Formats: sequence, structure tokens, C-alpha cells
Amino acid sequence: MQARSDVAIVGCGPVGALLANLLGQAGLTVDIYDREHEVHALPRAVHFDGEVMRIFQAAGLADRIAGACRPSPYGARFEDPSGRTILVRQGTDGPGPQGWSGSWYFHQPLLEEILRDGLTRFTSIQVHLGREIGSIDELAARFVVGCDGARSLVRRAIGSRQVDLGMHQPWLVVDLLCDPDSPRAQALPLHSLQFCDPARPMTLVNVNGRRRRWEIMLMPGDDPERLTEPAIFWPMIARWLGPEDARIERAAVYTFHSVVQEGWRKGRLLLAGDACHQTPPFLGQGMCAGMRDASNLAWKLAAIIKDGASDALLDTYESERRPHVTEFIELAVRLGAVIQATDPAVVAERDRRFTAGTETFDFPQSQLGPGCRADAPPPAGMIFPQPRLDDGRLMDEAIGQRFAIVGETALLTHLRPDAVLLPGVGSEWLARHGARAALLRPDRYIFDVAR
Ligand SMILES: Cc1cc2nc3c(=O)[nH]c(=O)nc-3n(C[C@H](O)[C@H](O)[C@H](O)COP(=O)(O)OP(=O)(O)OC[C@H]3O[C@@H](n4cnc5c(N)ncnc54)[C@H](O)[C@@H]3O)c2cc1C
Repeated sequence: MQARSDVAIVGCGPVGALLANLLGQAGLTVDIYDREHEVHALPRAVHFDGEVMRIFQAAGLADRIAGACRPSPYGARFEDPSGRTILVRQGTDGPGPQGWSGSWYFHQPLLEEILRDGLTRFTSIQVHLGREIGSIDELAARFVVGCDGARSLVRRAIGSRQVDLGMHQPWLVVDLLCDPDSPRAQALPLHSLQFCDPARPMTLVNVNGRRRRWEIMLMPGDDPERLTEPAIFWPMIARWLGPEDARIERAAVYTFHSVVQEGWRKGRLLLAGDACHQTPPFLGQGMCAGMRDASNLAWKLAAIIKDGASDALLDTYESERRPHVTEFIELAVRLGAVIQATDPAVVAERDRRFTAGTETFDFPQSQLGPGCRADAPPPAGMIFPQPRLDDGRLMDEAIGQRFAIVGETALLTHLRPDAVLLPGVGSEWLARHGARAALLRPDRYIFDVAR
């Protein structure tokens, strides 16, 4: 069959829409399909991190997205039922290492609308909404990427093998719109709260504006169909709010899964996002992982299609990304074990662990798995920070979407490679890692360093 476009993307959720934007920036032709006309309306992601905002920057959408989302300096706290804090993820005030705040809160349908609207910038992108792909034989493209979510059709065509990381648990997820004049709503915590109550574990998230998220674990005897009935729902959160303080905007029951697929590529078929991994949302990182997939894949597809790189480059996609995302999912599962403990013996063991005081954790700072560089130790395979340059621009604005060399001025002034040179940038960071210059990939991960 004649290739109609460079890349066909099945699924225009957040990951497919971002990938299409990145491919559009690279000048590729793309057909993107979604069975639905509208973006998904049920409550899902509310948080992304600074690296993901940096990827939106690469897609040319950071300003619009920053205007629609709330940066948060408050972090997350895990409390036992007595109100004692047992575990903390510290927030960061102001821009972090990625050049943006480290945590952003948002309304997923609005983010997806912005990503879809971004596609209208590119005449090389055709968006086909209301078009269900029943078989990949329908598609005529050089490469097909399945961004088609947890029940992926493309995954079935690849024949991936599922690795189960151990957690599957139903939760009720509710978005509330609070009355701005309610004193109880005003008194809600600004940080995210994991309420580790063995009688009823829950999560509270300050989303943005009047919107608050409650995630409530289902307990034995719960009828999932009836949990949002007023007589059942409001007593569960009576310690914070009642029907006079807020109204339910939307609700859904999900089973939170922790799975990773083996087999993200077969020939010209690829997977990204929930199609190849799912995590419980305790770190707010499921969609973030899919955005990192898109960022890793986009420059490799562009290098193959536009610059004639070998398509063996695509074999580095899963080998780099799978260990990275697995680290995030494994941490989310460990946090889930803290939150979801209901068995008295397990709860007693948990409480004993924290008697010495509060423990802290952060998002993993993971290294990519072996890929473009199989042999290079860290900091190769780590994301390079994004400093602000002396002229006020963020570093990535100066580089554009290509390879760059950053480092000590004295070293770089004599080099004239076909890459951007940024003397003086990141020298301090490099010195801390025992290096004097770094070669950055278009996705800003470090290809290698020079000592
Ligand atoms: C309660 C909850 C809270 C969460 N919180 C967070 C959070 O705070 N932070 C975070 O990063 N992540 C979070 N997540 C995870 C996040 O929502 C998902 O990881 C993300 O939506 C996955 O995006 P995706 O594009 O891969 O898949 P989806 O969003 O599932 O999109 C897949 C798209 O493919 C389309 N499609 C499927 N099959 C076909 C077909 N055959 N033909 C055409 N179209 C098709 C679907 O219609 C859909 O639009 C949360 C999830 C849940 C459930």
C-alpha cells in the first residue's frame, strides 16, 4: 500500500496529540485518528511535572499550557488518621532544574483541547476524529504509533507481553466544584494529601480554581454503582466538606493497574503512553510517562524519516524508556502499599516504620536504559537541566530541536560541529558530575560527556 503519510497515530488522547505536535514541529506528515469526536470527559490526570512542561515548550505550547495550569510549590503529604505526617514529597518554589516549576495541576480535558488546537498550526497534519481504526491494515503510513490507551489495538497487532507489577485496586474518583464562599472549602489543604486511614484510604488534590479531586478506595461491601449517591458519598468526606460546601462535577470508578508491556515495537508498528504502561496515580505520573515516550520517539522518527538514520534507532526506544517508566511505577506501587494498608497487622507494621519520624521522597531522577549509548555511565542517559541564559532565554529556545554541545567556554570555542554550541552553559552542573562538556540529544537527555 502506498504510504499516505510519514506517521499514522492511532489515538488522539494526550500522548497521541503531543506526539503529533512534536512530529509537526519536525516537518513530518501525520494522520492522527480517534474514535471519539470529543476529548475524554471523565476525571483522570491532574498533575504533571517540570520535565513534561519542558516537552510542551518543545512543542511550542508552554505559554498556553502554563496559562491554563497551576504551578504548585506545596508538594504532597501522607498522613495517618490522627493527622500525623508520615511521608512527604517536598514542593519546590519557583522554577526547578527543568526551567519550570516542578509540579503543575490541571484539568485534563482543557489540556487535551490545547494539544488538539496546537495541531491546527500544521498543514502537514490531518486529524480524523470520530474514526475508529478496526484494523491496522486500514492505515497507509511509513510508521504507525499506537497511542490508543489501555486496550490498545496496535498492541495486539504487535503481540506485546504484559508484565504485572502487582497492584490492581478499584478506587472512586470524584471532581468537586467548591463554593468559593464556603469557609470549610477555604480551609482545605493546599498540598496534596494522602489520607492513610485503614478504614477508608483517600487522596485529596487541590487541582485549580474551585476544583478539588477526591480519590477514595473501595472497601469490601461497597456498591460501585451507588457510591456517588448523596447519602453514601458525603459521609465519606464529612471530615472536610458537606453538600453545602461543594457539588460533584464528575465521578468514575477505576481499577488502578500497574503493568508494563514488553514489545513496544514490531517493524513499523510502535506503542506509546497507556498502550505500553499503566501506573496507579499515587505519583501523578502516568500521563507524564507517556509524554516522555512521545519526546523520545519524536526525534528518532524525524531522524529516520528526514535525515536517513537507520530504523534500528527505533530499537533504542523501548530499551531506553521501559526501565525509566518501570522505576516510576514501582515507586507508585510502594506508595500505594503505604496508602492502601487496611489489614491491622500491616497497618501496625507501617506505623512502626514511621515512629522515628517523617520520611521524604521525590520523583525518581531516572537514567534511561541502555539505548543510543549502551556503554555510557551516568550522567549519560540523564536529563540535562535547562538553565536560563544570560540573554534571558531558556536554554532550549537557543538550541531548537536538535543536538547541541554545552559546557566550558574554553573547550567549545575551538569546535565547529554541525550542532549548536552553548559555551558557558551548565558548566557548574557538569563540574558536579566530573565533566566539562555534554552532548545533548534533541530530547535533552545526555548522549555523552567529555571530561
Ligand atoms: C484517576 C486517574 C488519575 C490520574 N492522574 C494522573 C496524574 O495526575 N498525572 C498523570 O501524569 N497521569 C495521571 N493519570 C493517567 C493518565 O490519565 C493517563 O496515563 C493518560 O490519559 C494516558 O494517555 P494516552 O494518550 O496514552 O491514552 P488515552 O488518554 O487513553 O487516549 C487513548 C485514545 O485513543 C483512542 N482510541 C483507542 N482505540 C482506538 C481505535 N481503535 N481507533 C481510534 N481511536 C482509538 C481513545 O478514544 C482515546 O482518545 C491518571 C489516571 C486516572 C485514571
